[in-house]
Amino acid sequence: MAFDPHSLRQDFPILSQQAYDHPLVYLDNAATTQKPLSVLDAIQDYYRSFNANVHRGAHYLSDNATTRFEQARDTVARFINAPEQSHIIWSKGTTEAINMVAYGLEHLLEKGDEILITSLEHHANLVPWQQLAFRTGARLRILPLTSQGEWEDEYASYFTDRTRIFATTQVSNAIGVHTPLQAMLTQAKQHNAFTLVDGAQAVAHYPIDVQALDCDFYVFSGHKMYGPTGIGVLYGKSHALEVLIPYQTGGEMVQHVTYQSTQFNTLPYRLEAGTPHIEGAIGLAAACEFLTQQDRHALLAWEQSLAHRVYTRLHKESHVAIYSPEKHTTLVSLSVPNIHTLDLNAYLDSQGIAVRAGSHCAHPLMSQLGVAGTLRASFACYNTLEEADRFCDVLLEAIDLLTDE
Ligand code: PMP
Repeated sequence: MAFDPHSLRQDFPILSQQAYDHPLVYLDNAATTQKPLSVLDAIQDYYRSFNANVHRGAHYLSDNATTRFEQARDTVARFINAPEQSHIIWSKGTTEAINMVAYGLEHLLEKGDEILITSLEHHANLVPWQQLAFRTGARLRILPLTSQGEWEDEYASYFTDRTRIFATTQVSNAIGVHTPLQAMLTQAKQHNAFTLVDGAQAVAHYPIDVQALDCDFYVFSGHKMYGPTGIGVLYGKSHALEVLIPYQTGGEMVQHVTYQSTQFNTLPYRLEAGTPHIEGAIGLAAACEFLTQQDRHALLAWEQSLAHRVYTRLHKESHVAIYSPEKHTTLVSLSVPNIHTLDLNAYLDSQGIAVRAGSHCAHPLMSQLGVAGTLRASFACYNTLEEADRFCDVLLEAIDLLTDE
């Protein structure tokens, strides 16, 4: 294998600590990734060298902060191949970005219109649409993707002339499958629906080209791609962003205000009320640069090989049920009948291994799978083969201990 995570790990000092006298094994990357030194340095540099509010002051520090802040927007635009930086709207994360769209499109929805999502969604890409449907009388429809995420001909019938919005995840956070994105987007566009792709679980692993995807909106969070928390991105095509009613109003998003009326600013500022998360944007740009400097195909192949190694090892165990695909995924989600995933989680934690147990903010998907929750080991570029093996060893040890004879 050409890729060596050991040298990359130098950039992530948090990983070299002990947890309860065991080497820390961090396999909860789908929840949030660790941050490389370059991201930590970029944030600290902002506070040490040019902290000031952006777009407001006309002084040395403010000009400097504004330049760096807008450069960050450029970097993010390049990272996902957005045509211009005005297509990048800062948000707190994926959740806020989806809410911005759900709120912003409300004025275009009528009773009887349809909002279509898939059965594999995180609550962040479900609840905002459900609530929008409640408010407008629109109908929330669910495209019943199989847990393997394959495209089936009958799915086409879910796209109708009433479909106004189609929102889908690119990769499931709970089980790691890819949705049949291109096939679904093609159908949605044939029906002139607005399209939104939740890229929260994709950006850390796959190079993203929003122009090739040709979706109206693409959303993601910084913290799942080696960037800081509290910052995320709403990418939109110009016409799609233009029709959004601003989700929040206040300073910065205006051009002129009287007591009677307000003239809103142009994009991207029209959708960014108040002082932005300046160091978050700068940190996220550093994370984009970190990823751009890597051989992304090698990184992905490595992460997939770790998931595949775990899959292959545990698949042989008759008492382990795996919900993730065998290949082309970077995580393994599983359960063990008659053992609570939280008990498995607790044992793994006691041995220094961080995974995630529960419903992964996807209750309807858990019902589809017929389980209350799963145990998820999710990989990032800094994970090693030894860590993948240790996870399997300790999990099997836990199963032995927790199995009633
Ligand atoms: N969608 C998916 C697929 C996710 O994995 C997550 C985070 N688990 C979200 C949306 C929500 O992201 P955030 O909490 O960063 O807003």
